[in-house]
Amino acid sequence: MLKPTNPGLWLFICLCACGRPAGQSIISRPIPFGAQREQLTLDYIRQHYDSGATDIQTTPQIIVIHWTVTPTLESLYAVFGPDTLAASRNAIRRGGRVNVSSQFAVDRDGTIYQLMPGNRMARHTIGLNRISIGIENIGGPEQPLTSSQLQANAWLVRRLCKEYPGIRFLIGHHEYLAFRATPFWQEKDPTYVTSKQDPGADFMLRLRQSVSELMLLAGPP
Ligand SMILES: [Zn+2]
Repeated sequence: MLKPTNPGLWLFICLCACGRPAGQSIISRPIPFGAQREQLTLDYIRQHYDSGATDIQTTPQIIVIHWTVTPTLESLYAVFGPDTLAASRNAIRRGGRVNVSSQFAVDRDGTIYQLMPGNRMARHTIGLNRISIGIENIGGPEQPLTSSQLQANAWLVRRLCKEYPGIRFLIGHHEYLAFRATPFWQEKDPTYVTSKQDPGADFMLRLRQSVSELMLLAGPP
């Protein structure tokens, strides 16, 4: 293969061939997800969504953007690592034993990590877990999300829309209750809800502007 020596040419080739900024990629770094976690996830699906479910596969239609509040990628892995929910998670403990997680995480510098397959259920958004993909961003109210994270989220959203053509919605976690009382909402227990602020209206506005060509919806039709 012909190897250009001009770095600018390499950049040009990468932008043409990959349609992405040079250097953007997904690093596979799975969280532990063995037989026990899979069974607990299936238990969650049966309890909340479908008592006859036989697997933890999802059909992604919604991308949900989060922030972690935990300040580093390593602290996020520490939170997501165990199979079972931490005892301190009082607000959602009655929802079941399986631990929370998301399929992707974006570090402060825009590096993207894949924690789970995009079509296996993660516990990240009540009511919508079986039809959504969660993207966590390292940051929170005291640690505003960065422009590198914004760019990485936009790149990842575009990529996921290609991989899962059924994706129609892009929402922030703080917007998820708009799906309540619509056919998309699968939670059986009407009292099992939480109030969320992540990742905030400003980040979602900028992300939606970045991927406006995808025509994703911000809420139920
Ligand atoms: Zn969240």
